[in-house]
Amino acid sequence: MPQVPNEPLDPDYLAFVARGLGIDTPSDTVRSSVKSSVTDVLDSLAHILIAKPRQTVAVGAYVPTRADHAADALIVLIAENGPPNPETIQHLQDVLARLRRIRAAPPPPYLGTTVYGTQIIPSYIPRNARTAFERELVDLEMAVLTYSHAKLHRRITKHDCHLAFAEAVGDMCGLPVEDRADDRDDAERKLLADLQALEVNRPYLRRLDFCMQKLAAMPPPGSVPDELDIIRTVLHQVLEDKMELAHKSTFLRMLNEYTQCRLAKKGKQVKKPPDVLQWLSKVITIVEHYHRITRIATIPTLAGRFLQGLKIEGVPDPVPAPLIPRALDRQTARKILEAADCDLGHDINKTVDGFLDTLAGAHAGPNAPEVRSADYQPSFHCESALLAQIHGRPAIPYIGVSKPSCAFCSIFFDAYRAATSAGNIYTRSGHRQLTSWACPVLHDDPALNATIREHVASALLSKIGSGWKRYRKAPSSSRSLAAAGDDHDRILADDEVRLDIAGLELKPKG
Ligand SMILES: [Zn+2]
Repeated sequence: MPQVPNEPLDPDYLAFVARGLGIDTPSDTVRSSVKSSVTDVLDSLAHILIAKPRQTVAVGAYVPTRADHAADALIVLIAENGPPNPETIQHLQDVLARLRRIRAAPPPPYLGTTVYGTQIIPSYIPRNARTAFERELVDLEMAVLTYSHAKLHRRITKHDCHLAFAEAVGDMCGLPVEDRADDRDDAERKLLADLQALEVNRPYLRRLDFCMQKLAAMPPPGSVPDELDIIRTVLHQVLEDKMELAHKSTFLRMLNEYTQCRLAKKGKQVKKPPDVLQWLSKVITIVEHYHRITRIATIPTLAGRFLQGLKIEGVPDPVPAPLIPRALDRQTARKILEAADCDLGHDINKTVDGFLDTLAGAHAGPNAPEVRSADYQPSFHCESALLAQIHGRPAIPYIGVSKPSCAFCSIFFDAYRAATSAGNIYTRSGHRQLTSWACPVLHDDPALNATIREHVASALLSKIGSGWKRYRKAPSSSRSLAAAGDDHDRILADDEVRLDIAGLELKPKG
């Protein structure tokens, strides 16, 4: 990959500054206009390829030219944040082989067909199913769950409040509060009494209690398949009950309140109010994605695309090997802020230094000298790296991602579409977490690269301009790194921000 000189207005620099100031959520206008069964399947394939917490995967596909791969109908490209893992590609190969077997097995007679010849398959199939078709489906789902076990286990067990929900539902189903002699104070007793007085039908509540207890005791990776099969059944039960649960707003509000109260009593620090519905929705997504990829076996057009003559390739991590030394000193920072039309006030040096202090955060120490230097190595995000790789090829105009793209990637896709005539390629955009981001370089097209980088730089400067207004409005005592978003994985995002800012080390002048 060609090296691009690091000018102050280089997109990587601007992304670093913009991240400090925060960027508003990408607007709806950048959302994909090409949503279809193919885009859904690409997103779901990316999702089921996640084995570890913090892993992000992008999946794209193109039709090879004869000279490249004469025998292959479709090349599927897999990119990760970092070098590609061989296990990711292996898992996708295994999943596609299983889907081919499902496609080949005769469906049981009870399954109807639609006018387009699409088999409608039930979401949940018990493990003792009789036909080969159903057994293959169960095996596929178990393979998907086994592969993502570590990620699922972490998602279910990582925060106290999630496990406390199980206890709260158990309390609600258990002994009436007036018969309990325990450490609950008046406020807790009142909340529990109100919960127990709610008209929630008993069988439903007992089922929810069962599901909660099982999820809270989620077996760790490496456990026996029987234990994971129970979790599979529980996830399907929650999936089925989700709609009903979503309508029980009073119950949910009171359950969340009671859970929070119990956590506080136990001295647990709760960063975000508990939200049982959001947690359950996140936990069951793996089952929803499994069900969506089974369409590859049952919808003829998808089977034609994904199950015949397909080849899978990993996109190499485009990060150049040597660390590029960068310095964000007063002069550079001022140049960036002026280019973004930021009002720097009367005492420009003081304003810029204050901003650098904020950016360096508490990690830089109390006595900030004039020059700060950072061996800052931004990282490439998988969907942007994949877009750079797929450029110029007859591709499916959509890149599936395991989580919605960040604002930087959305800006890169915007810039690519604006700079290329055939630029109708999209990704699922929308999340607000900002992590370290590098602008990928397209191969063998310096003129197009320059145009794309110009577009990205101009979008980032405008974001820096609006971020600056918010930053200046805030009282100086509360100025800090901008919020990365309110996603469930926020704590991870915070950690990442801290790591990067810690890289801004102070070095003596000269
Ligand atoms: Zn991104």
